[in-house]
Amino acid sequence: LKDKIKLDHRSTTDTNLVEQWQRTDFPWSSKVEHIRTNIFNIPSFRQWQLETINVTLSNRDCILIMPTGGGKSLCYQLPAIITDGITIVVSPLISLVEDQVYALKKLNIDARSLNTSTPREEQTEIMHILDGQKKIDSTLKILYLTPEKIAKSKTIMAKLQKLYETQRFARLIVDEVHCVSQFGHDFRPDYKYLSIFKRQFPNVSILGLTATATTKVINDVQQILNIPKCILFRAPFNRKNLFYEVIHKSDVGKDAFNELVNCIQHRFDKQSGIVYCLSQKDAEDVCCELQRHGMYEDDVGIKAGCYHAGLSGPSRTQVHERWIKNQVHVICATIAFGMGIDKPDVRFVIHHSLSKSIENFYQESGRAGRDDKESHCILFFRFGDVFRLAPMAFSDKSGNGLTNLYSMISYCLNESECRRKLIAKYFDEVWQSNDCNHMCDICTRPSTYISKRNCSQEAAMIVEYLEKNSKQRFTPLKLVEHLSIPTMIKIDIQRLILQLIIDQYLKEDFHFTPYNTVCYVVPGPKAKYVHDEHCEIVIDMIESTKKRSSNTNNKDEKQILKRTSTTPKAPDVRPKLRWVTNIDSTRKS
Ligand code: ADP
Ligand code: MG
Ligand code: ZN
Repeated sequence: LKDKIKLDHRSTTDTNLVEQWQRTDFPWSSKVEHIRTNIFNIPSFRQWQLETINVTLSNRDCILIMPTGGGKSLCYQLPAIITDGITIVVSPLISLVEDQVYALKKLNIDARSLNTSTPREEQTEIMHILDGQKKIDSTLKILYLTPEKIAKSKTIMAKLQKLYETQRFARLIVDEVHCVSQFGHDFRPDYKYLSIFKRQFPNVSILGLTATATTKVINDVQQILNIPKCILFRAPFNRKNLFYEVIHKSDVGKDAFNELVNCIQHRFDKQSGIVYCLSQKDAEDVCCELQRHGMYEDDVGIKAGCYHAGLSGPSRTQVHERWIKNQVHVICATIAFGMGIDKPDVRFVIHHSLSKSIENFYQESGRAGRDDKESHCILFFRFGDVFRLAPMAFSDKSGNGLTNLYSMISYCLNESECRRKLIAKYFDEVWQSNDCNHMCDICTRPSTYISKRNCSQEAAMIVEYLEKNSKQRFTPLKLVEHLSIPTMIKIDIQRLILQLIIDQYLKEDFHFTPYNTVCYVVPGPKAKYVHDEHCEIVIDMIESTKKRSSNTNNKDEKQILKRTSTTPKAPDVRPKLRWVTNIDSTRKS
């Protein structure tokens, strides 16, 4: 962890800043040491804990970005004991809060939580404590609130005002602080309400905590919370031990399952992993498929469990626990399986379908390899999945749903640029060409593997076809079926259509019925430019997907490629590009 986290120098002009916060001669330093050993029974601080505690106790605003399980809670719990008054913690996950309160009570620290399930009497009592009623002799140090409480309860704000006026509002902690930002993967509207705190309570310092946030999100958070000068401690953005790759998934459901099963059996046998699925039903289907397939005759199959919001609390907890203990190897989950997961040895995160945004993808796949050992982030991509996600993206309240989805599609269509570079570029992070170190599928294959091709002629054919048949409605799948483009095979037609949608030559046309949403394709706002002689629609051409099927052991492949990459011209171990060789044989009927 030591070199993993570094101070973000945007926040300072003083290079000695880190050392300044590592000092142990602050007025509170001996107390901090005492409480660490005698109350929390912790032998030593982990990286950034002491620094954050010192910043916080200096009454300065701070944001700490540290992986889940890194020990962020201690950074406010310890100062809360030292400081007079009550520390307010805003945290969205009631179950995790209950665990924290329980743990604190065991340490004899008075902590409580106020949420919708808090019993009425206790609510009243907490209100009285905040009021500072003389007859109540309170030892309350830490009060957890949900963001909903703050956004929806005027009483709470009035009580916090009272707390502030009587100088007992010690500090504001914002857990999962990335939820403040719309650019984040988990924006929660109720968090927006926190923006008034700095104005309302200018003397209360703010400490924001999160496991993942990009520079863009952090800038946004700083602006929304009004803490432009906060001190920032952050883990680096580039996770060096994660290998990123995209695999083309079969259009046929059964084959797609087999590809997934093969991939897990051959590459991650008995290893711990997560398979993210698009819907609850998908998660259940995938789970059944994995359980059904054994590598050997007498095998029971892959030990898989299912996790989604449609399951009861206890059964979710049980699956999670069995996974932590490695009794279950693979969790098939929706994105409900997220925050608070801190299993260190997750060897793979597979997206059985693409995520709704790169932000989500980065966050979800980032749950692999917390122990710094090599781990894999694999995305199974196919055309059809895009149009299952598109209606959801279209109705997304943020209004950015489709734009976010298009960036994700671009990541999947890409066959020529380093995957991590694309992710870094998307987040406006600094990128150096050798930062990947052969840890993505693109960087480990010969450059001859792909070729770019201007498909503007084929694009014109597609647009013309739609214009000519404007009385008919085409779903994307139907369009692919009906099109006849002699120079292209199906998968490339699919890729081209996606590119045309991203570039606005085509667009989706959503039809909402009471039961579902149908997505059709129609000519887009730029359709008329497709006939322009300067029109360039370039897509990456790849060789037959068969050759990149999921059961090749990519790791071996990578070794070979690494070795040969020093010779000036790496021998092309692959068959010639399908584009060149297959023109006749792929003629569509
Ligand atoms: P986070 O909020 O960053 O995900 P937590 O605050 O919940 O992590 O802490 C995770 C675990 O690490 C807790 O069990 C906590 O007691 C433990 N922990 C925190 N700091 C230390 C430390 N310095 N040394 C050992 N264990 C620690
Ligand atoms: Mg936490
Ligand atoms: Zn790369």
